Amino acid sequence: MEWQQPIPKQYLQMPRATVLERIAEHKKALGKRLVILGHHYQQDDVVAFADYVGDSFQLSRQAAELTETEFVIFCGVHFMAESADVLTSPHQKVILPDMGAGCSMADMAQADDVVDAWDIITEACRDLDQFELIPITYVNSSAAVKSFVGEHGGAVCTSSNCEKILTWALNGQKPGDVPRRKIIFFPDQHLGRNTAYKMGFGLDTMVTWDYRAMRGGLNDEQIAEANFILWKGHCSVHQLFRPEHVDDIRRRIEGILVIVHPECRWEVVQKADMVGSTEFIGRTIRESPPGSKWAVGTEVHMVNRLATSHPDKQIVILSDCQCLCTTMYRIDPPHLLHVLDHLAQGRIMNQIRVNDYDRYWSRVSLQRMLDITGGRPVSPPPEPKPAPRHDDDAMSGANTSHHLAVVAG
Ligand code: SF4
Repeated sequence: MEWQQPIPKQYLQMPRATVLERIAEHKKALGKRLVILGHHYQQDDVVAFADYVGDSFQLSRQAAELTETEFVIFCGVHFMAESADVLTSPHQKVILPDMGAGCSMADMAQADDVVDAWDIITEACRDLDQFELIPITYVNSSAAVKSFVGEHGGAVCTSSNCEKILTWALNGQKPGDVPRRKIIFFPDQHLGRNTAYKMGFGLDTMVTWDYRAMRGGLNDEQIAEANFILWKGHCSVHQLFRPEHVDDIRRRIEGILVIVHPECRWEVVQKADMVGSTEFIGRTIRESPPGSKWAVGTEVHMVNRLATSHPDKQIVILSDCQCLCTTMYRIDPPHLLHVLDHLAQGRIMNQIRVNDYDRYWSRVSLQRMLDITGGRPVSPPPEPKPAPRHDDDAMSGANTSHHLAVVAG
């Protein structure tokens, strides 16, 4: 998460109707020069202005295909805007309305910690025969981590294709085989655990790398024996759902089906009827018959929107634990208007720009994902390979994206 200078008070004091009206005017005036992307977890007043609503990767691809668009306002969180910048053309400027909109999960895997873990794990496995360590990162990670993964032969995954990516990374290795190929999975332990378990790997084949502990809190033997080394990150929203919430809702609403996101803990997933990405959840509920009843384990804005758009079905959130993505919630109409006001005056506020090195290698890791899953190639093609990074280019310094305030061309 980055620091955002508070926007002028006038934006926060303006009547809601005025804010919405002015956003609409800017949008109309900028026409095809602008696209606004809205993640599923955004508040309704923001989604109302989104040209496209979806998950982070879908939205980034969408922006990349709209080559006539100059300005991409990403109403999501920081790593999403980074992915959009990596995939779009150099003339497209990606803007995050509030730089404070980070993702707690992505922030749990800092590039420096990832490099340290890699070195320790490689060293701990030095005596293993034909050992290979494959890094996989969930798309909910910084460009710096995606870049590391790309450069070290790994791939990005989404919550929809995680199983395919892990299958590729294991290269035919099955549960019970000697773990010659090991996967280090960033940053969401739950997505990694839930997917590997579904593939038939027992919990005893996985260890958790605690990035706050010395040597990940593991000894060499534990590292050497594991098939999966799961980074101890989590989503602060999905982690709020607990197994007792599933028991409770089933007691309260007869015949209810429980559908959850794979970022939920393993214990919750085990009790649910279905598990899948936001797209899967949306599609499953849309296609379900009238009168069906659903308890949904994901962010509250998406659940409320599903409930409003399907009044013929009973749709409730799995728990009343305020499962709100607070960082996503920072993107509100006043912040959207603020960046649009600047654009109208020829200034680009809060541009997200990934450095060339990470842009190259994170695109490699994203392209690898698409190659594995048969997805359309990323557009435009990768830029010339950057010169290798020197050891003294600290990851934390050389490997971050920048936000800029520049004059729009
Ligand atoms: S819902 Fe969770 S994973 Fe998604 S942006 Fe918010 S904190 Fe990050």
